[in-house]
Amino acid sequence: MAASRRRSTKNAGKGLPDNARSGAPSAGVQKRATMKYAVLADAYQRIESTSSRLAMTELLAGLFRKTPQALIGPMVYLTQGKLYPDFEGVEIGVAEKMAIRAVAHAAEVPSATVEQKLATAGDLGLVAEALLAKGNRRGPVLTLEQVYRELDRTAHASGKGAQTAKMHALAGLLARATPREAKYLVRMITGRLRLGVGDMTVLDALAVVFAGGKQARKVLERAYNLTSDLGYVARTVAAGGLDAVRKIHVVVGKPIRPMLAERLGDPQEILQKLGGQCIAEYKYDGERLQIHKKGTQVDIFSRRLEKITAQYPDVVDLARTHLRAREAIMEGEVVAINPTSGDLLSFQELMPRRRKYGIEQVMADIPTAVFAFDALYVDGTDLTEQPHAERHRLLESMITPDDRFHPAVSRRVSAVRELEEFFEQAVADGCEGLVCKALGGVYQAGARGWQWIKFKREYRSEMTDAVDLVVVGAFHGRGRRGGTYGALLMAAYDPKDEMFRTVCKLGSGFTDEFLAALPGQLRSSTRPDRDPHVDSRLTADVWFTPTVVYEVIGAEITLSPVHTAGWNAIREGAGLAIRFPRFRRVRDDKGPTEATTVAEIVAMYKHQLKRAG
Ligand code: ATP
Repeated sequence: MAASRRRSTKNAGKGLPDNARSGAPSAGVQKRATMKYAVLADAYQRIESTSSRLAMTELLAGLFRKTPQALIGPMVYLTQGKLYPDFEGVEIGVAEKMAIRAVAHAAEVPSATVEQKLATAGDLGLVAEALLAKGNRRGPVLTLEQVYRELDRTAHASGKGAQTAKMHALAGLLARATPREAKYLVRMITGRLRLGVGDMTVLDALAVVFAGGKQARKVLERAYNLTSDLGYVARTVAAGGLDAVRKIHVVVGKPIRPMLAERLGDPQEILQKLGGQCIAEYKYDGERLQIHKKGTQVDIFSRRLEKITAQYPDVVDLARTHLRAREAIMEGEVVAINPTSGDLLSFQELMPRRRKYGIEQVMADIPTAVFAFDALYVDGTDLTEQPHAERHRLLESMITPDDRFHPAVSRRVSAVRELEEFFEQAVADGCEGLVCKALGGVYQAGARGWQWIKFKREYRSEMTDAVDLVVVGAFHGRGRRGGTYGALLMAAYDPKDEMFRTVCKLGSGFTDEFLAALPGQLRSSTRPDRDPHVDSRLTADVWFTPTVVYEVIGAEITLSPVHTAGWNAIREGAGLAIRFPRFRRVRDDKGPTEATTVAEIVAMYKHQLKRAG
């Protein structure tokens, strides 16, 4: 332990950039704490040459013992090839071209020489090591603090002249480095350090050095799962031991590693696993978001814990206005919605959100809604240890709901039949199925467990054939497309009873021009009430005499408590629906009785089952 406290007064570090942005205790160095970078480079060399996790842990523990307490955070980040925890999104991000120029500069050779050597060696780190080994070089002078500070400055440099400044800064570092140090510096700046040191190995080593042995890993792991910040856990254990780590709670601004679900296809088994009852929630097909709110400051993290606030300015606004707590962390699924009908769209429709620029336009074209499903923190209270039923209650109480932001549709369920019905309702409403949650389950950050069970259909297949459906009704559009129809009620034909039975609401695939012209085009077949030949459980805003036929393609055919095509044909009390239908073209070569029949839809459903089974 004495070694871990060793301090040198020589080469006192000037202090590292503060890590305040992560809301963590500062990663800044105490005055006088310093450490030669060569110690890291030597340890990296040994770590790299072992594949045994045990040996790696020991080597890492050796390195941590030599690290001044104030430098343990930067040490942990650097060893994983980073400067900050991933969620900060800070990348050293030096292009290979620039790294080549920096090596050339430091080694005083032309860039072409470096490029040539790189072509044969395939590793710029090795090239730098070899080139810098030539000539008379001094012993190690670089400190960990200097390296961290320079790399941090490089990572944050932007604007005019930044590229050249970065190159010179890196060349300066390399010029002062020993050949071995240069090898690891170059790998680090080009994002190729890859020592193979995983999170769990770091936690093991920290447990060995600061918490009395590997058995303490679990405590450290819990803290890591709650904060996703290894450097923060390292600083805490180094400064305050295991007791301090036990006191770590969720922190607004640090993403919590997500709890994940197991999967079962049998509702009976699901209920058994969850103790006979559960809270079943719609499983929305969008993107998982973790929303952190502190006053008016809102941050959004993805399932992979990347900060994606910039992709969702609309969600930021929604969270500001609909989350009643001053401080909160909640999870939800963001789903693309049809701007005209308000219907849920599939996950793919969110893809255009993955961009840096032009978000405003995408936001207008593809609005979203947020369905909140968990509350992890509210106004000073960490909720992760509370049972799900309580978190659920708190979540509902802290949201002012509206169309665009509300709790996931849920139901407390204790009977198989109820679960099946709710499942069908979820699918009919455009969801993938259900997530069934144990009432008493705590939030198991970073773990996949049986407290959450997803209930999705076991089959999934593409609907390969398009169908020709008849327009029997319409729903008024909202928002941007008010004044035209938001969705059309579509039906298949049942020749046996001469009836048109509904199979979907169609709101996608239309151009703006087509939508605008629709009311005029359909006016002649409008009628004041439902046509007696139309069988519908939905009440349309506008009814039509079945006349017009459209070609439609969907994702799949599903059981539905809402649509009447194939009612009771597959299951008592359920019809069939086309999920995610899209308009393809007008079939003015077909009359309504030539549309796809109900029997064909039933056959397609059975065929789909067979293919998937
Ligand atoms: P999948 O690919 O099925 O979404 P996954 O591996 O991303 O699975 P799982 O834990 O297996 O994640 O399934 C839960 C996922 O379902 C969550 O990550 C979340 O994105 C999504 N989801 C949608 N609605 C809910 C809900 N009500 N509760 C929890 N998760 C939900």
